[in-house]
Amino acid sequence: MRILITGGAGFLGSHLCDYFLSKGHNVIAMDNLITGNTANIEHLAGHDHFLFIKHDVTNYIYVEGALDAVLHFASPASPIDYLEWPIPTLKVGALGTHKALGLAKAKNSRFLLASTSEVYGDPLIHPQTEAYWGNVNPIGPRGVYDEAKRFAEAITMAYHRYHSVDTRIARIFNTFGPRMRLHDGRVVPNFTAQALRGEPLTVYGDGSQTRSFCYVSDLIEGIYRLLMSDETDPVNLGNPREMTILEFARTIIELTGSSSQITFVRPEDARIRDDPKVRQPDIGKARRVLGWEPQVSLEEGLKNTIEWFRDRV
Ligand code: UDP
Repeated sequence: MRILITGGAGFLGSHLCDYFLSKGHNVIAMDNLITGNTANIEHLAGHDHFLFIKHDVTNYIYVEGALDAVLHFASPASPIDYLEWPIPTLKVGALGTHKALGLAKAKNSRFLLASTSEVYGDPLIHPQTEAYWGNVNPIGPRGVYDEAKRFAEAITMAYHRYHSVDTRIARIFNTFGPRMRLHDGRVVPNFTAQALRGEPLTVYGDGSQTRSFCYVSDLIEGIYRLLMSDETDPVNLGNPREMTILEFARTIIELTGSSSQITFVRPEDARIRDDPKVRQPDIGKARRVLGWEPQVSLEEGLKNTIEWFRDRV
């Protein structure tokens, strides 16, 4: 296959580049580098089957030659990034998805959208199944991401129904691993860096909110299986092992062997407004349709991730 990965220099995008190249495919990575970084793909420079194009996909996308698949992964993906880049976040989810779908239609290629558990907002159904429509505040700090991704799902289904584009939608839950940005503000890099530096771990609120963390290699395998499947409705991909953020902080302290303490950050901070109180994927559909479930334990995944951050803090 010859595939285009938007956001190809980002965390998930760059791991997808590696995965598809390792299977012998041709990969074009496209990224405007606002949150992506060429350091994530520098080891691929000069690879015969790899091409990087610096481009903002909210503008018309030009790719020469045939394409078998377009994987649309371009987007800021951390709450801190949405605060810094609210309009680019809205634009890439809306205009960028439109352009990427237009390209898929023109090239007659399969299209896969990186959607998110954020479409469920602060969920009133737990765990979240694909049938749940969500509970999103459109005007809160997360609204720029959540609503852009909800629009992205809507336009993907519209291209599927009205233009017969062969589409897939992955609803991606919290994923972690090497190549997350140290300063992206998400809980895994924050806690890991704080623990490695011996600084206090900043738990937002009382730490009773829950998340479920999936290691990156599991997620990438799930994306590949979804792309290769016939499933055109959204599929949750994530690890169903759920824990409170306070438990997660303790786990990081233990695995890093750190002497850090835990500090509680005040809830009026804009970063934690509308912070979902619970999040856990129901992956029954992924198990059934893709024969997929995570293989890497939280501890094993965190050990790899901690080693990666250790060299960079
Ligand atoms: N969080 C925290 N301390 C931090 C960073 C995040 O307690 O330094 C919490 C945050 O409030 C949320 C959870 O960790 O409840 C996961 O946050 P993240 O930004 O990783 O992603 P989210 O799942 O909220 O999109």
